Amino acid sequence: MKRLLFLTIIVVFLVYLAPIGFHFYQNGHPAEQEIHTVQNVENPSDSQALDGQNANKTADDADAAQAADEKTAEKQAPDAAASEKDTSPALRVSVNGRVREMSLEEYVAGAVAAEMPASFPDEALKAQAVAARTYAVYKQSLGRDEKHPDAVVCDDYTHCAAFVDLKNDAEELWGNKAEAWTKKIRAAAEKTAGKIVTYHDAPIAAVFHAAAAKQTEAAVSVWGADVPYLESVSSAGDDACPEYDSEVTLRAEEFRQLLLKKYPDINLTGLPKTWFTEVQSSEAGGVTSCKVGGIAMKGTEVRELLQLNSTHFTISTTDSTITFRTQGYGHGVGMSQYGAKHMAEDGKTFTEILEHYYTGTKVSDLAA
Ligand SMILES: [Zn+2]
Repeated sequence: MKRLLFLTIIVVFLVYLAPIGFHFYQNGHPAEQEIHTVQNVENPSDSQALDGQNANKTADDADAAQAADEKTAEKQAPDAAASEKDTSPALRVSVNGRVREMSLEEYVAGAVAAEMPASFPDEALKAQAVAARTYAVYKQSLGRDEKHPDAVVCDDYTHCAAFVDLKNDAEELWGNKAEAWTKKIRAAAEKTAGKIVTYHDAPIAAVFHAAAAKQTEAAVSVWGADVPYLESVSSAGDDACPEYDSEVTLRAEEFRQLLLKKYPDINLTGLPKTWFTEVQSSEAGGVTSCKVGGIAMKGTEVRELLQLNSTHFTISTTDSTITFRTQGYGHGVGMSQYGAKHMAEDGKTFTEILEHYYTGTKVSDLAA
């Protein structure tokens, strides 16, 4: 029963909250703020913020990614194994709404390409590869997915993880760097082939995000579910994320109308400074809950309503405006991709990176 509840909570947050950061491959999420680009695991709000603006991506890259996105639907090459040495199990992946069968390792390489800039250091890319592989294996362990019952994972980063078809779309994605980046990404997958992150011998929900705010959030603070390996841990180097500091300012009337749509009975009269009360924060500094015009809301709800980059926000008001300033990018739970980059640059291995961000876990070999 407890396990069922836990799985339900995990699925709910993966669907609605998870995405993390990068997804530079996917463009144009009007609901979110047109910011994202890199590539990462799940969360709608997260990703747009970085697209196209990542320090590692050029404008040409972004254009290429968009072109690739538009063309992928017509290009379906046979999905052979990535290489003759690839004997990994087959995985059913929903790509652009069509189910394709490919090897697990081919999937991992495509997910890394879509979720993390290829310019990141090797050990960070390897950590990302293990996280993507772990996530697929974890999803498989959950059984049928209601959203895509015929596939284990899909390429919607707001649900599973973004995915790029490296065989067909690398050139459109990376232009003249296609060969070098493809080689680098494939190496990250191959050098970690068959490795997953486990907690008590079971694959974990290896969630990640673009950048924490110096400390990751515990799952319980963001999603309300206490997950032993998703605790709050220190995270250095997050501020290298181009969207680390961000702000959203709304006119008071604009804010009032937005909230009235969802809460017709909300009381937003008087000055804006009286509208926000009982702001509660997590140990990592993210807003867990607050009251807005007398209505209790979770930090994640405020983030979603206002399309903030993270729940790590402060609120400041004037008589006619409200400003939300955020730090970090994504839900803040699990591995920080910029944190992974920082650790890799600091000489840490992918195993050290993963075991740092996923408390009490270890990197194990997938059982044959
Ligand atoms: Zn999915």
